Amino acid sequence: MDVVQTSAVNFYENVSAKEVEDFYHNMLKTAGEKHPMLGLNSKLVKEDGKLVEKVWKSGGMYGSAIDRVIENLQKAIPYAENPQQAKALQLLIDYYKSGDLKTFDAFCIAWVQDTAGTVDLINGFTEVYHDPKGFKGDWEAMVEYNDPDATEKMAIVSKNAQYFEDNSPIMAEHKKASVKGVSYRVINVAMEGGDAAPSTPIGVNLPNSDWIREDYGSKSISLNNIEDAYGKAGGALATAEFANDPEEVERAKKYSEACGKMHTALHEVIGHASGKLNPNIAAPHVTLKVYASTLEEARADLVALYYMPDPKLVEWKLMPDGEAYKAEYDSYIRNGLFQQYRRIQPGDDLEEDHMRNRQVVAAWVFDKGKADNVISKEVRNGKTYFNINDYAKARELFGQLLREIQRIKSEGDFNAAHDLVEGYGVKVDPEAVKEVRARYASLPTKAYSGFVQPKLIAVKDAQGNITDVKVETETDFVQQMLRYGKEYNFLPVKN
Ligand SMILES: [Zn+2]
Repeated sequence: MDVVQTSAVNFYENVSAKEVEDFYHNMLKTAGEKHPMLGLNSKLVKEDGKLVEKVWKSGGMYGSAIDRVIENLQKAIPYAENPQQAKALQLLIDYYKSGDLKTFDAFCIAWVQDTAGTVDLINGFTEVYHDPKGFKGDWEAMVEYNDPDATEKMAIVSKNAQYFEDNSPIMAEHKKASVKGVSYRVINVAMEGGDAAPSTPIGVNLPNSDWIREDYGSKSISLNNIEDAYGKAGGALATAEFANDPEEVERAKKYSEACGKMHTALHEVIGHASGKLNPNIAAPHVTLKVYASTLEEARADLVALYYMPDPKLVEWKLMPDGEAYKAEYDSYIRNGLFQQYRRIQPGDDLEEDHMRNRQVVAAWVFDKGKADNVISKEVRNGKTYFNINDYAKARELFGQLLREIQRIKSEGDFNAAHDLVEGYGVKVDPEAVKEVRARYASLPTKAYSGFVQPKLIAVKDAQGNITDVKVETETDFVQQMLRYGKEYNFLPVKN
């Protein structure tokens, strides 16, 4: 079927997948080597038989809301912590005014180089997961501040980025000779909006432009207060229901917090930043198309899974001991092959990239380990369980799959990407979905979590200077969403 015409997103109107591809591939021909992410900030429509981009910018599509973004960025500039941060903010404003993606790249470069501040932001049309063709970015925003203690602890991961690259199971020709500028901070979120709310990521690595990452590096953050909240929101009860044995439950209790933070750090800092493309191979969304995002997430997860048993992590005091990684393996397999089905209906296939990625990884390792009984599937009293019998072998298999997915990305091997994702990451047994949903029905946890944002209220003195910020918390999620609808409804009904 036509993935654009049958898609629920509103990035395209009256255009087919083929027309989208032709349009951007044509543009790519004359775009030069270090080109921006084409199509990132526009809707592509057909008008009078011609394809036109409606650019999201001041005076363009969504202009009335973008003007409010500009207004607030302008207010932030006098408070910038250093000239580099002020420069980045100004470039972001210029980009919102012109809609020029080259200016967005200039912003991304200035933003990557702004590492001295204690406060930072993410702001722009960013992640392309929702576009079946992988061109259009969802708008998102985040304001965050550093957690210095946790950052110092994790800094050892980015300091040793080259160790991870050199010892990776990927092929020698796909390794970076020198891994650049992997900056990692543990942060707390002050406010999130757009695509980052009310459901939020727990780790972010930006910018997404491959050439900027290679030439200037990227910034990785782990969202500490979000991870803490997730940890306290009832995951333990689900583990008790789905874990194969009391040993696994104990292990999860003891290690899951450390494992979660370590997985995010390795996924973001080492995973997304590692490996390189072969010469003259286009970016993955061009070569691997609809499978690019799924495999990129799988690649980053596999780097984390492969390195979690590394004794260096214990030596560096990032993991409590040599057994801890087993808790991560247990939960990854359980979730990838089973628990994550709580988010779909019986009869559905997997469509979301992260869900596909987790199933590709878990199902591939399950399948390839069958002969050696690496992971067994057990059914007791009508309930399904998964048990890892050989952790060392599981690690070896994670390494093999990492090598293969890096090869697919580096070579732009579309056929292999297709076979891997369609073969392992899409189809789901409806009976398994029914069982997972039934077992979750009795637990007080929901399939997705939405967050309530703080209300930040400026306290002013008699002269009108801001002297403090008061935090008020809205306790009712529905109330929050209704308030957003009233207070932040800057778009005309018809745009
Ligand atoms: Zn990722």
